Amino acid sequence: MQKYIDSYDFAGKKAIVRVDFNVPLNENFEITDDTRIRRAIPTLKKVLEKGGSLIIMSHLGRPKKVDPKFSLKHIVARVSECLGVPVQFAEDCQKADAQAAALKPGEVLLLENLRFYAEEEGKPRGLAEDATDEEKKAAKKVVKESQKEFVKKLASYADCYINDAFGTAHRAHGSTALIAAYFPDDKMFGYLMEGEIKAIDNVLKNAGHPFTAIIGGAKVSSKLAVLENMLERVDNLVIGGGMSYTFIKAQGGNIGNSLHEDDLMPQALEILAKAKEKGVKVFLPTMSVVADAFSNDANAKVVPTAEIPEGWEGMDVAAENLAEWKDVILGSKTVLWNGPVGVFEMPNFAKGTLQIAEDLAEATAKGAYTLVGGGDSVAAVTKMGYADKVSYVSTGGGAMLEALEGKDLPGIAAVRE
Ligand code: AMP
Repeated sequence: MQKYIDSYDFAGKKAIVRVDFNVPLNENFEITDDTRIRRAIPTLKKVLEKGGSLIIMSHLGRPKKVDPKFSLKHIVARVSECLGVPVQFAEDCQKADAQAAALKPGEVLLLENLRFYAEEEGKPRGLAEDATDEEKKAAKKVVKESQKEFVKKLASYADCYINDAFGTAHRAHGSTALIAAYFPDDKMFGYLMEGEIKAIDNVLKNAGHPFTAIIGGAKVSSKLAVLENMLERVDNLVIGGGMSYTFIKAQGGNIGNSLHEDDLMPQALEILAKAKEKGVKVFLPTMSVVADAFSNDANAKVVPTAEIPEGWEGMDVAAENLAEWKDVILGSKTVLWNGPVGVFEMPNFAKGTLQIAEDLAEATAKGAYTLVGGGDSVAAVTKMGYADKVSYVSTGGGAMLEALEGKDLPGIAAVRE
């Protein structure tokens, strides 16, 4: 049964904690953004304060073998600094028995990168490019078998398991999902995971109405499942960014050189039809800021989105739509935002995305619940300084996207089961 970190008795116990310390490093192996470390600190400190010891495990990057470039030793000093206690390091996550056994209350051991082992992901490595399906299947069977031993070893180090790695919650990996089975009565979420789960529940289960979802980003294909799931739940669906041009073209508009996916036009029309059937109001950019090149310094003008001239492409939502969308956002009790509504990396085409961030902050101040979920909108809201002016900013791009699609995340399910 799932336990809770606030009520669990950690005194004299060893907790193995899966965190997401997949931080960006520069060419000198210095951390350039330690947000992910800092977000896990409350959970880690709680265990230490309550008299427990810590065995911390994480992945870093996508190594396909043991590779010093991806060693977690690069982050030991920063973790120690953030925790305020020394941090020991186990150079092989599968050979940490003695170090784990020797841990006393208040002590901390960080395990080397879990992904140095293929067993963490449970996927075979080093297969020949021309491997047959049979060979692939056989290799998968081998790694799945050894994965059991890999997970068992990690579990043997500790008395309880905490998952605080939301960023990898959508992966059914050894340390994110399979290990929980070894702690049937001693498994729990860390505070970061609890926060993310609550945020997901706030929009998927307990949303106040009117509920507005703003879905932007480059492609319809990567957001199709989110759009479909949102149709079941929202009152208003705002569709912006590169993906909106597929919808406009599907309706017969001329979109010039704008980003679009012809093969997704039928699905776009289906979404619009379904929205109508369900009484969901859909807001598309009817006016766009267009440019004559994909560049910040390109010539720009505002035109109707369905009449973009050849040689021009949609880069941002125009002011007319933003004013309309603002009313929709401010009139909502719940707002979910995933994906920028323009090419926000270019300052000349970031106005729409900035305005959405501002509107969300204003709606939050008025009492709405606002969730910013998904990689690029999170980057936008953070870059623009609104991260603490909305109700919740998710830390997990892919994981949040899958949760918004309505999928059960393996990392969450394994602890709840
Ligand atoms: P996603 O990862 O799907 O959320 O997409 C984010 C990306 O979509 C960002 O890099 C934006 O620059 C891009 N994007 C947003 N609007 C447009 C647009 N009108 N044309 C091209 N790319 C866009």
